[in-house]
Amino acid sequence: MLSKVIPGAKALRNHEIVIIGGGVHGLSLAYNLAKSGRTDVAVFERSYLGAGASGRNLSLIRSSWQQPAWAELVWYCRQIWSQISVELDYNVMLTQRGSYLCIRDERSVAVARDAVAMQNSLGIPTRMVTAAELAKAVPPLDTTGMLAGVHDPTAGISRHDALVWAYARAADRLGVAIHTETPVTGLSVSGNRVNRILTDRGSIAADIVINCAGSGSAEVAAMAGVRLPLRKLALEMFVTEPYRAYLDPIVSVIEDQAYIMQTSRGEFVGGAEPTGHVGAPRLATSYAALRQSAAVLARLFPALRGVNILRAWAGLIDMTPDGAGLVGQTEERPNFYLDCGWGGEGYMVSVGTGPLIAEYLNTGVLDRRLRPFHHGRFATGERLDDGLLVVDAAGETRT
Ligand SMILES: Cc1cc2nc3c(=O)[nH]c(=O)nc-3n(C[C@H](O)[C@H](O)[C@H](O)COP(=O)(O)OP(=O)(O)OC[C@H]3O[C@@H](n4cnc5c(N)ncnc54)[C@H](O)[C@@H]3O)c2cc1C
Repeated sequence: MLSKVIPGAKALRNHEIVIIGGGVHGLSLAYNLAKSGRTDVAVFERSYLGAGASGRNLSLIRSSWQQPAWAELVWYCRQIWSQISVELDYNVMLTQRGSYLCIRDERSVAVARDAVAMQNSLGIPTRMVTAAELAKAVPPLDTTGMLAGVHDPTAGISRHDALVWAYARAADRLGVAIHTETPVTGLSVSGNRVNRILTDRGSIAADIVINCAGSGSAEVAAMAGVRLPLRKLALEMFVTEPYRAYLDPIVSVIEDQAYIMQTSRGEFVGGAEPTGHVGAPRLATSYAALRQSAAVLARLFPALRGVNILRAWAGLIDMTPDGAGLVGQTEERPNFYLDCGWGGEGYMVSVGTGPLIAEYLNTGVLDRRLRPFHHGRFATGERLDDGLLVVDAAGETRT
């Protein structure tokens, strides 16, 4: 467990910058701040590092998005992914499998066609494929009813715990104080500023506080008197027993909200989102979700019928009304910042939000790639709903 990697419980002291949440966003930001010379940083994590969605995700990295803002951000991140193991001196086991996003609905085909043209204009080498090409590229897939697909040759997976560990170790080496098993229980406010962080081990002062608390972000913001448009949503996934090498690319189907890939050990990892979780987010897995996922994936890959599921798990995500993240300084508390709300897509962008938000805190200028994700967008009606999301903001299946 990572709490063993980071030397034992440190005494609390005041810090210039406090980050709440020890997931990939908090740790990426901590590392990038320290790398930029801001080393008086502490991370408070209520459990072990990676205990939230960061240690429970599929770890899919992809570049195919409908919204130019998403496409630009993920493409920037994709370049960082290619060298992150070297930079952090830790192998995050990135493998570039490529992915196929399969589409059954005529309207989604039109959306995808426009999106691919936009992506290509940004230099992203995605392409539309016909149903026949899909069948040829992914022979085990039952393409009945599929109209087209998007091939993203740059998509890949990595090991999510490794990324958490890599950032934590690198931040620790640069002098960041990482406090695990230390829940932030309150924020005290003086004037319009957050001036103290209250934990169950005592309280400390900080000049700047950043909310990277994942599915706990709305509660953390409320401690500062800030309301965020977030709700919790549970995603469930499963892993099967090993099977012969069968599926090289990552495959997802928009209308089924299904995604599946085969690990290098031969296991299939995937899920197909059920509707039952809205309003009842919990970490427990459910038979209904497992049954739905198994049924959808066995329909898509008939040869997998009879392959045993070994394990299932759930993770909680923090979902905004448009499924896109929330960044920036809050108006109510000028020293309280956000890097949360990344929903089902926050793993892939974490390598880029860290350097960009560190730069923002250093210069006061929010990079153009993060500006569209400013939390104030809802007030001006600028939403980032993306028609190529497999887990959509409503958290409901589209079939
Ligand atoms: C099943 C599943 C599959 C997914 N698949 C993908 C995928 O393929 N690709 C992708 O890009 N994204 C995926 N995601 C989404 C991705 O995992 C998240 O967007 C990302 O991990 C968010 O990182 P984070 O650091 O913001 O939040 P988290 O990892 O949730 O970290 C927040 C941390 O804050 C801590 N915390 C909360 N409240 C407090 C408090 N009061 N005090 C101290 N600490 C606190 C929590 O314990 C937690 O460790 C998936 C998510 C799930 C659940």
